[in-house]
Amino acid sequence: MNKDNIIISIDHVSKWFGDKRVLDDISLNIKKGEFVTILGPSGCGKTTTLRIIAGFETPDEGSIYIDGELMNKVQPHKRPVNTVFQRYALFPHLNVFDNIAFGLKLQGVAKDEIEKRVMRVLKMVGMTDYEWRDVDSLSGGQQQRVAIARAIVNRPAVLLLDEPLSALDHKMRKDMQIELKQMHKQLGITFVYVTHDQEEALTLSDTVVVMNHGVIQQIGSPTDIYNEPVNCFVADFIGESNIFNAIMVEDRKVSFMDHEFECVDEGFGENVPVDVVVRPEDIYIMPKTDKGQFDGVVSSCIFKGVHYEIIVNTPDGYELMIQDYNPFEVGMEVSMIIKPTDIQVMKKERICNTFEGEMIDDTHVEILDCEFECLKQEGISAGDKVLVEVDFDKVELTDDKRDGTCEGDIRFILYKADHYQLSVRALNREYIYVDTQDVWEDRDIVGINIRPEDMRIKLKEAKSQA
Ligand code: ATP
Repeated sequence: MNKDNIIISIDHVSKWFGDKRVLDDISLNIKKGEFVTILGPSGCGKTTTLRIIAGFETPDEGSIYIDGELMNKVQPHKRPVNTVFQRYALFPHLNVFDNIAFGLKLQGVAKDEIEKRVMRVLKMVGMTDYEWRDVDSLSGGQQQRVAIARAIVNRPAVLLLDEPLSALDHKMRKDMQIELKQMHKQLGITFVYVTHDQEEALTLSDTVVVMNHGVIQQIGSPTDIYNEPVNCFVADFIGESNIFNAIMVEDRKVSFMDHEFECVDEGFGENVPVDVVVRPEDIYIMPKTDKGQFDGVVSSCIFKGVHYEIIVNTPDGYELMIQDYNPFEVGMEVSMIIKPTDIQVMKKERICNTFEGEMIDDTHVEILDCEFECLKQEGISAGDKVLVEVDFDKVELTDDKRDGTCEGDIRFILYKADHYQLSVRALNREYIYVDTQDVWEDRDIVGINIRPEDMRIKLKEAKSQA
C-alpha cells in the first residue's frame, strides 16, 4: 500500500466505556480524497470511531494517525478535521452568514476573505441568498446545509459526517445524498461518513466499512460488499438475502436445501459446514418444469415498484425470497435455478457455542456467570477450568426470564431459510447463538436453559494442548 496516499490510519484501536469494550481492535486506512462510510446497526461503535478520529474520545489501546502524525493526544480543534453532527448544532442567535463565518472570525481571517469564502460555500450547498436569514426560520434540510457549509468553510483535510441526513424526510434525504456526492467531488477532500442506512452507504461511498459489536466485519467497495459478503451478518445487513446452512461437499460443489449445487468456490475442504448466501434477484423462477434444479409453491407475491417480491416454499420446508419482473400467482407450482456464480459460499464463524467455565462440583458448572447443572464428567472435578460446547439448536429460550438458568436479550435475528439464528447476549455480555423455529423479536428478554446432556465439557488445558 502506498503510505503517502493514506490520510487517516486507525491502528489496532480499542475503546472501553466502563467494563464494556465498544471498539475491539479496529484497524482502518483511509485514502486522501476517499468517501468512506462506516456502516452498522445501532450501538456497533460507528460514532465512537468517528469521535476518536475527531479527538472527542481517546483510544484506550492503539493509535490514530492523520497525515502521518500521531493524534492520540492532539486536541480536537488542532486536528485537520471538521465534524457535521446528526443535529445541526447551529448557533440559534446568529444568522446564516455569522454561523458560517464564526470559525473564520475566531482565526482572525480578513473580512473580505471571510465574505468571499462564506459566499462560495453557500453557493456550494445551494443556499445563495440565504445569508441574512435567521437559522430558526430555515427548514431541517436547510439547517443541515448550513451546518455542512460551516464545516467546509474551514477547508479541513477531512470532513467527518455523523448521520447528517437522519433528521430529514425521505425525499430531502435523497436530494441531499446527491448533493453530498457532488460536493465531495468538487471539494476533493476526504469524507468519513457514519450511517446505519445500507442504501445510503452503497449510494454514496467509494469504500464501505461494515461494523458489528465493535468489530470491523468487512471493508470493500459497495459492489464487493454486496456481491461478496464475508459472513452472514454482512450478507443480511446489506440488501435482501437468502442465507442457508450448507455443506461444502468438495471444490465447486455445495449442498443446501437438501440439493447439491455447482458453485465456483474452492479451497474450503471436503464436507465442511459453510454458510451460503443467494440474493433474491439471482434465483430464476419459472412455472413448474423438469428443467429446474428444485421446485416449490408460491406463498406470496407483492409488487415492489420495479419488481415483484415472491415467497416460495419448497416441499422440504425451506422458504425463499425471490425477485422477478413477472408476477407469479399464489399457490402456483414453480421451478427454480441458481447459477454457480450466484452462490456465495462463506466460512462459518463458529460451528457451535463454546463457553469458558469452571466446575463448581461434580454436577454443576459455571458458565455465562451462572450455575448450570451438568452430567458428571470422568476426570473432571470441582475447581477445574473447562470449555463447554453446546450446539446452536440445543439452547432453549423461555419467554419468562425467571424460567431460565440465566437471562439474556436478543440482539440479532438471522433468517436461514428454514429456521432463525438468534444472537442472544447474556447479562455477563457473552453471546449465545441459538437455532430455533420459534419467532422472537429483537430485544426480547429471555431465559436461557441448556440440558445437562447437551453440554460437551472438556478440560480447558487439555483442549489447548490438542
Ligand atoms: P448509533 O447509531 O445508535 O449512534 P453507534 O454505532 O454510533 O450507534 P456508538 O454511539 O459508537 O454506536 O456506541 C457504541 C456503544 O457504546 C453503545 O452501546 C453505546 O451505548 C456505548 N456508548 C457510547 N458512548 C458512551 C459513553 N459516553 N458512555 C458509556 N457508553 C457509551
